[in-house]
Amino acid sequence: MTPPGFSRVGIVGAGQLGRMLALAAVPLGLSTSFLDRSAAAPAAAVAPILVGELEDPAMLAELAARSDVLTFDWENISGAALAPLEPSIAIRPSAAALEVSQDRLLEKALFARLGVPVAPHAAVDTPADLHAAIRRLGVPGVLKTRRLGYDGKGQYVVRDSKGVETAWETLGADGLIYEAFQQFSREVSIIGARSADGRVVTYPLSTNTHSGGILRHTTAPYVNTKLERLAQAHLRKVLRELGYVGVLALEFFVVNGRLVANEMAPRVHNTGHWTIEGSITSQFENHLRAICDLPLGSTRPLGHTAMINFLGTMPDRARLLDIEGLSFHDYGKVARPGRKLGHCTILRKSAKDRNEALANALKLIEWT
Ligand code: AMP
Repeated sequence: MTPPGFSRVGIVGAGQLGRMLALAAVPLGLSTSFLDRSAAAPAAAVAPILVGELEDPAMLAELAARSDVLTFDWENISGAALAPLEPSIAIRPSAAALEVSQDRLLEKALFARLGVPVAPHAAVDTPADLHAAIRRLGVPGVLKTRRLGYDGKGQYVVRDSKGVETAWETLGADGLIYEAFQQFSREVSIIGARSADGRVVTYPLSTNTHSGGILRHTTAPYVNTKLERLAQAHLRKVLRELGYVGVLALEFFVVNGRLVANEMAPRVHNTGHWTIEGSITSQFENHLRAICDLPLGSTRPLGHTAMINFLGTMPDRARLLDIEGLSFHDYGKVARPGRKLGHCTILRKSAKDRNEALANALKLIEWT
């Protein structure tokens, strides 16, 4: 008997997110195949891979021919590259949803339209725009590329008027955005999945520690009913507006007890890796369930979790594994400074025990 829904998932990009999707697909009886520029990409160790440019029409057509549904490890693929495939295969999330999330200005316009608060900001295409933005919004502020920025890349913090020149020299080109610096007390994110028939599940709020623009660790759940309800409401509005299918993540700053949206990711997200061990259904499984028209799974947390990224250098595996209940994830990547190479997750019964275990694990991890 043919199982209901789709069972062959084609994934554009074969990084660690793709790899964790492929691993979650196995018990569901789904198969995955990938397209990536590198035959040594992390997901290639666990599923078949086509090697080629991610926007090469012939390679995308080949991936589509092997799949019932297409999805993404890398969200920056253009609508133009996907357009020829749209009549013949389900693309989830849609090219339209990807396009909004590819441009910080479009993303902020969407949030503002839906009543999701954002930081004051201005589009910057010339040095004169930058001066005008700084006059209006003041310093400090963050100059960012509108497109293709990630993990703190494509960003420059303007601290005073002297920084303006350097900011322009560092990022200068058209297609920038200047944002007022947010004096946040913490950063949080909400992740949810939406099915094609409009059902939505959301994970508990998590709290995220970044440094140099890159995520260091996440703890969840962040028990704050008021903020969690608000974040869930914001996420639901965005999911509904985009007719979204799959997992979506929204990141916020908490400023004076209020949420200010920073950005969204139209895919499984680093701040949701804790769900593999910390929730009944992981974000990876729920993404697959959503895009394959299977019922969404429970997002109930199993306890209090901490997830720590391994950046630049892999830690001593044996020493970490000696921590009771620690789960270790090595993405199989070549080490480079600042590169995400893996992560670990610790699950405890109480937030206090989790925080203690997090502090102990952090002593064994060096970020380079
Ligand atoms: P992003 O690439 O926009 O997610 O930024 C990466 C990190 O840089 C965020 O998680 C914050 O820690 C920091 N950051 C980005 N934008 C701002 C801002 N407007 N104010 C303060 N910190 C920011």
